[in-house]
Amino acid sequence: MVQAIVFDMDGVLYRGSRKIMGVPEEISRLQEKVAVLFLTNNATKSRSDYVKWLAIFGIRASESEIMTSSFGCAHYIREKHGLKRKVFVIGEQGLKDELMLEAKARIVEGKGAKIVVCGLDRGITYKKYENAMENLSSGAAFMLANSDPTLPKERGFAPGSGAIASVLITATGRKPDVTIGKPSTYLIDKLLQMHKLKPQEAAFVGDRLEIDMRMANAVGMKSVLVLSGVAKRKDVKNAPASDKPDIILSSAAKVGQALGI
Ligand SMILES: [Mg+2]
Repeated sequence: MVQAIVFDMDGVLYRGSRKIMGVPEEISRLQEKVAVLFLTNNATKSRSDYVKWLAIFGIRASESEIMTSSFGCAHYIREKHGLKRKVFVIGEQGLKDELMLEAKARIVEGKGAKIVVCGLDRGITYKKYENAMENLSSGAAFMLANSDPTLPKERGFAPGSGAIASVLITATGRKPDVTIGKPSTYLIDKLLQMHKLKPQEAAFVGDRLEIDMRMANAVGMKSVLVLSGVAKRKDVKNAPASDKPDIILSSAAKVGQALGI
């Protein structure tokens, strides 16, 4: 039996702002038996924002149980670049909050940044792109929160962080120096380390093949695909071996049963 289950959030616990039936009840049942952790590529919220957001859906979680690409970016900057660096951000308040809190970053609006961090930014303007480009052209490090092409909504999709970043990639001719979010294993490695877990002791539950299942398989976790989000059953057949799940479920409400918990 696994000792921990890590849940992706959007498309697994909820879709946009819509509940997925039976999931909160299943999460609280599992929390009595194993470690339950949460990991999302979304960089628009801080971990403390997510504690409140999950509570709206009836899911109890503490900050230490949540890993986001906003916190991951801050953690990475702290490790690789150090504290109090000047950072230019394409992204929302949650990302800025984590950068200021965890990396003591100094957020700059114009020139002079040592690092440009790009995440989902629903207030993106041409001016922001122009300033980011200027910093990148002056040699700032280029970090991506995640490369997700789309963001799931209650119905359909909106442009994701990867789509936002593609403008900068095209304009500067530079590839990001690092991408923090899944399918990179940076976030899951950190989360498992923080909870003293080995990948073989844990399962990952996600809704995207080329993002969630690829990451889970790459680190050696049990990979569980739920069909409540992006991937559909027919997509699994066409996926490469690296992206195929160990287990397929209609929703996260069935995770305990499938894992014998
Ligand atoms: Mg998802």
